[in-house]
Amino acid sequence: MQYPQLKLFINGQWLDAGSGGTRDLNSPLDESLLTQIPLAGPVELNLAAESVHRGFAIWKKKNAHERYIILRKAADLMRERSKEIGEVLTMEQGKPLNESIREITLAADITDFQAEEAKRLYGRDVPTRLPNIISQNVIRQPIGPVAAFAPWNFPVNLTVRKMASALAAGCSVIVRPDIQTPGCAMLVVQCFLDAGVPADALNFVIGKPSEVSDVLINNPLIRKVSFTGSVPIGKVLGEQCARLVKHFTSELGGHSAVIVCEDADIPYTIAASVTGKFRNAGQICTCPTRWFIHESKFDAWVAEFVEKTKQIKLGSGMDKDTEMGPLAMKRRLETMQELVDDAVAKGATVLTGGHRVGDKGWFFAPTVVTNVPADARLAYDEPFGPIAIVEKYSDLNEAIEKANSLPYALAAYAFTTDAMKQHVLGQELEAGMVGINHFGVSQPETPFGGWKESGIGQEMGAEGILPYTEVKLISVSTP
Ligand code: NAD
Repeated sequence: MQYPQLKLFINGQWLDAGSGGTRDLNSPLDESLLTQIPLAGPVELNLAAESVHRGFAIWKKKNAHERYIILRKAADLMRERSKEIGEVLTMEQGKPLNESIREITLAADITDFQAEEAKRLYGRDVPTRLPNIISQNVIRQPIGPVAAFAPWNFPVNLTVRKMASALAAGCSVIVRPDIQTPGCAMLVVQCFLDAGVPADALNFVIGKPSEVSDVLINNPLIRKVSFTGSVPIGKVLGEQCARLVKHFTSELGGHSAVIVCEDADIPYTIAASVTGKFRNAGQICTCPTRWFIHESKFDAWVAEFVEKTKQIKLGSGMDKDTEMGPLAMKRRLETMQELVDDAVAKGATVLTGGHRVGDKGWFFAPTVVTNVPADARLAYDEPFGPIAIVEKYSDLNEAIEKANSLPYALAAYAFTTDAMKQHVLGQELEAGMVGINHFGVSQPETPFGGWKESGIGQEMGAEGILPYTEVKLISVSTP
């Protein structure tokens, strides 16, 4: 399969080049050159903002049912093209092809759900206290043109969460994929255009991340920004939006804790933990990272977990039996090594992995570490990669306290068959999503979002469309 020719979609036209020059896109598998990326510069970015401003006037006039029909068609096209798009995703990001295809079909399900949800953006009529006011209608209207900044770890899913929800609400949108994963996002944008989203309602730009965000946030025509990425960048963009009083939704990663109680189903917990940790090479914001295992089970649990971790098959995402691909970028490989080396220097023990694999491609061995001291970066910096930390606990309250101790609060997990503990852990773990006895907290029908520094607002579920709307009161009086 050939990597597709990358283009920008601006002002209703596919463009082969932009004024921002080009940049190499390299394969995570073998570092070979996949293509040259055309980059939009300020001129095209401002044109894109004008385009979605015009597109908003057209798209917002379509009623929810009309938008629903178009978005459902886009979802079907994604399903039809899932293999083709999935191959591009794997080429540029590295994950196994079956995970890529699953990502695309899930993105189609998210689109379906948000399209349906648009039909349920109900208003309400509030009873009046004044004799001459005859109605007080509270309605929701689309917020306006949106700038959607997506990352590289789930480049289709996380693009579609933003694009489909914005369009479902009646907003127009500029999609900016990560610079490592523009191809699959471009093919998904094509599905939405082919389904009938008007050209000006959807623009697609690739560019230098800070330039794209500076230009689009500062353009007065953009009314909302949605960002998924790291905490430091989220803070910068949030500050820029706050200064201009623009709406901002952010999803900024996590450092998820997993509490394994003494009554947990141990073989099930270990099997779930291996898959949960190393899927997508651990490059998942809800990825479990810090295990707190009851002391009575710790030694046996860790021995089996390490054994299973060693068996994970690394390789090309295109090979059917590959379980874990390379990391998506060279800098992620460097970060993994820095985190492990720093932890070891401060007293941590590596139980398996802890190093690069091979010298071509960005593979890092699935890694398990223990005795990580609180001052090691790994203890408080999100690894966002294939590193698991295992520690023992004796008192459940102490484990909960440790789980809640970081500024991150996206997802948290616990394994226990005791109903009372399930209740307590569900209530006490500080996170936007708590999974009890499983890691599957990211579903099209359920809200996804973090507390504390993990972000502001939600995507997906009934909550996912609301950030793309404004509330309006229409109050009518007799003359
Ligand atoms: P990074 O901070 O360099 O970039 C993170 C994301 O932000 C990337 O997608 C990048 O394109 C984008 N970005 C960077 N500068 C930007 C700017 N000025 N304006 C707009 N977007 C900008 O980190 P990285 O090395 O790419 O990824 C690792 C870190 O990012 C991890 O620590 C992880 O927390 C975070 N991350 C989180 C998610 C998530 O799903 N929450 C996804 C990807 C990355």
